[in-house]
Amino acid sequence: MVLADLGRKITSALKLLGNATIIDEDVLNSMLNEVCRALLEADVNIRLVKQLRENVKSVIDFEEMAAGLNKRKMIQTAVFKELVKLIDPGTKAWTPTKGKPNIIMFVGLQGSGKTTTCTKLAYHYQKKGWKSCLICADTFRAGAFDQLKQNATKARIPFYGSYTEVDPVVLAAEGVDKFKQEGFEIIIVDTSGRHKQEDSLFEEMLQVSNAVSPDNVVFVMDASIGQACEAQSRAFKEKVDVASVIITKLDGHAKGGGALSAVAATKSPVIFIGTGEHIDDFEQFKTKPFISKLLGMGDIEGLIDKVNELNLDENEELINKLKHGEFTLRDMYEQFQNIMKMGPFSQIMGMIPGFSSDFMTKGNEQESMARLKKLMTIMDSMNDEELDNREGAKIFMRTPGRVQRVARGAGVSIKEVQELLQQYQKFAQMVKKMGGIKGLFKGKGGDMTKNVNPAQMQKLNQSIARAMDPRVLHQIGGMSGLQNMMRQFQQSAQGGGLGGMMGGMGGGGGGGGGGGNK
Ligand code: GDP
Repeated sequence: MVLADLGRKITSALKLLGNATIIDEDVLNSMLNEVCRALLEADVNIRLVKQLRENVKSVIDFEEMAAGLNKRKMIQTAVFKELVKLIDPGTKAWTPTKGKPNIIMFVGLQGSGKTTTCTKLAYHYQKKGWKSCLICADTFRAGAFDQLKQNATKARIPFYGSYTEVDPVVLAAEGVDKFKQEGFEIIIVDTSGRHKQEDSLFEEMLQVSNAVSPDNVVFVMDASIGQACEAQSRAFKEKVDVASVIITKLDGHAKGGGALSAVAATKSPVIFIGTGEHIDDFEQFKTKPFISKLLGMGDIEGLIDKVNELNLDENEELINKLKHGEFTLRDMYEQFQNIMKMGPFSQIMGMIPGFSSDFMTKGNEQESMARLKKLMTIMDSMNDEELDNREGAKIFMRTPGRVQRVARGAGVSIKEVQELLQQYQKFAQMVKKMGGIKGLFKGKGGDMTKNVNPAQMQKLNQSIARAMDPRVLHQIGGMSGLQNMMRQFQQSAQGGGLGGMMGGMGGGGGGGGGGGNK
């Protein structure tokens, strides 16, 4: 999770409220001291930190507060609100319009991650079904076109550029014309950077901008400069009409909090954040869900979005099977594929309420993915009869030679195949229970949670708990944490259809898979 350290410190400060028997001025002050210290350590401007402290204190008046009011809750809510305010620019972010060309021009200093981020954004929209492309108008840096070409090819995104044309204005205009004619919806223009803010850079940016009339100018900034982002953001905003900001390298930089709040201070909306070098290390930035994830409170909306991207609702066959409580090894295989397609595991885990923000560090994520991949390799060595068998693992029990054959084929031990079969049986049992609950799966777009009564929900929780790895269950706060999570799914999945539930199952189950091998 991005800024895991900051999240952990603030969460532990808030815990002071939970540990105190009486909430008074002293408790509030020591909690605020810790929150403020954490923010300062993340390079948030001291003026903003002071403001946060004053605002929280102004809401909480111990003398005026009637007895019986839940002071803990009020203080927590006030801190949450102030944290959101800290990174909220108060202006609405630009969004593209479907069915027309949206020209997005990228600007920023050299090395900020501009070229990498262009591809990430094009890929993001491409995944959502927009016709996206890339134009390299960076003629300043040697190798810029090669880099964009390489990135674009890897992600299968159409691109435009030249090894011979030296005028960025000509390149940008030609590229935009070409892609407009071809009906592209997201047209991203990468421009030159410089090592520092120079007049020649701003001059070139203006010329390119005049030539292509962008719908949105995105300023890319490196988080590692912390609160110095404020001056840089203002300088770019003054020269070109910067409409949105993307902050990169928020992974592994302690100053990320400073960068985010500094940009908010310039009233420029941050639209995405870069969280790594990989094309998937990219998250849409929304203030409330971001703070919520930072404090380990999850982001149901984001989770449902991710799951919806998978178009699970269109998988009628799977829905039908689930309705009847059927779940074969092949279905499990496909679910694992879905989990992997959802992108970085840590992003998904951070969206599930109750997971502490630092649960999934990069190391853990790699282990979980590796574990999932291994399970899939084992299933790759199974034949169709085994994968599609309605009786599931029984076919392996009847003919133990099959386990040996699969183990040999996948290059794993017999024990590992047996473990996979056990994991599968737990999943299948859970699906059977879910299938047995009337009204749970209504199919396409239907609301799957409305008709479930509390007793049925309780049963479902119990079976999910049993299917989960105990360590993962512990992470989400045991049975009560799980119930809480399911309640939230229930509330938020309204209209989210099957997606919401599959997200819960996939995330929890996948985590179980990940933890099992440690
Ligand atoms: P440009 O000069 O602004 O076009 O920058 P590049 O796109 O070439 O990126 C510079 C370096 O930063 C490359 O090594 C990228 O892999 C790396 N980079 C870009 N975005 C991120 C990010 O979000 N996290 C991390 N860790 N590295 C990034």
